[in-house]
Amino acid sequence: MTKSLQAIRGMNDILPEQTPLWRYFEGTVAGLLDGYGYRQIRMPIVEFTELFKRSIGEVTDIVEKEMYTFEDRNGDSLTLRPEGTAACVRAVLEHGITGSGQPQKLWYIGPMFRHERPQKGRYRQFHQIGVEVFNLAGPDIDAELILLTWRLWGALGIRDAVTLELNSLGTSEARARYRDALVAFLSERLEQLDEDSQRRLKSNPLRILDSKAPQTQALLGDAPKLADYLDDESRVHFDGLKARLDAAGIPYVINPKLVRGLDYYSKTVFEWTTDKLGAQGTVCAGGRYDGLVEQMGGKPTPGVGFAMGIERLILLLETLEQVPEALARQVDVYLCAIGEAAELAALTLSEQLRDQVPGLRLQVNAGSGSFKSQFKKADKSGALFALVLGEDELAQEVIGFKPLRGQGEQQNVAWGALAEHLASALQA
Ligand code: ATP
Ligand code: MG
Repeated sequence: MTKSLQAIRGMNDILPEQTPLWRYFEGTVAGLLDGYGYRQIRMPIVEFTELFKRSIGEVTDIVEKEMYTFEDRNGDSLTLRPEGTAACVRAVLEHGITGSGQPQKLWYIGPMFRHERPQKGRYRQFHQIGVEVFNLAGPDIDAELILLTWRLWGALGIRDAVTLELNSLGTSEARARYRDALVAFLSERLEQLDEDSQRRLKSNPLRILDSKAPQTQALLGDAPKLADYLDDESRVHFDGLKARLDAAGIPYVINPKLVRGLDYYSKTVFEWTTDKLGAQGTVCAGGRYDGLVEQMGGKPTPGVGFAMGIERLILLLETLEQVPEALARQVDVYLCAIGEAAELAALTLSEQLRDQVPGLRLQVNAGSGSFKSQFKKADKSGALFALVLGEDELAQEVIGFKPLRGQGEQQNVAWGALAEHLASALQA
């Protein structure tokens, strides 16, 4: 194939073999969020570049080097969204959704775009489900967000494979004081820092905390600790969150180096990580961003949220063999009709069955063919039963009901009794 007809590197087709698992995952999350009273919001995939610069922060990895930015025909600078929070905040402000001060619990799903180096669990187009809550300032809602993800891991059968990491970044004032102390400490030891961290010391010093370089990590052992700079309000908030997680029996580890890549966080930050996916181990991440709405031009509005990476969670389900068996079968019944008269009768019969058996997954043979060839297709479809309509059956107004996976003998069933017969056979 010529190069121009290939998908862009890091942007994947999700093929028919994979979509059942995606739909199972998405349906499970949507059902869970419904159960907690969250409402879905859908934002555009493209926004003004300025939105991401202002919300995510100019000196973050995302804005510095990962965005897909282009000029449209009007000369406006637009960007494919790299995450969902910025657009969600823009949308709630634009539509006055948070202005009344009433709690708003929202979620979204969709593709995100970042120009990163593609590898397992890291793509240039990837998908997130995100949750954002506005106008609730207390640790109770932070706890609810964590609780519902915990419930999700339980429903998916992956609880044992994930760990909750928690930290508090304090208010932006507390963080600024800590940043000064950290910069002062590291500036005196500049030559001992790795190259990336030297650069970040000016632009985004907190990110140095999660540097992977051993020499930098060694240095950080004696550096000032963020926890010692926490303001009282943040400390009380964090204690409140931990108390709730303890009460709910949700295990966690405090990771003082967890700072998250985006500028807008304050107080609570958390990540769900796994050691089953290699380097791309964070499957869900979030935190509180009480200053963001005001920074984007709204009234001061508390906010907290998280986003999970669908590809990574799908990989985890596959790795842990937690793919429900039922997903393998997409067809319940395959209808074979031999001869033109039978084909016409099959048409009516199949439409009746669809009316009478809710949720029936019925594939009607298309393209005619001999009994033998239709039967082969029925078997290949994965269906549990074949329905056979030939000249004889037509004359007697019955249908041949044939189990394909060894559940009993073939028998003739009267047309009038077919729906009931089928429904009970599928239930067995
Ligand atoms: P990472 O540290 O792995 O780059 P991040 O901190 O940049 O992640 P967030 O912006 O917090 O990620 O996004 C939330 C989640 O979205 C991540 O925890 C991850 O599961 C998923 N995610 C982020 N970037 C990618 C990507 N390029 N490909 C696939 N999933 C991703
Ligand atoms: Mg990243």
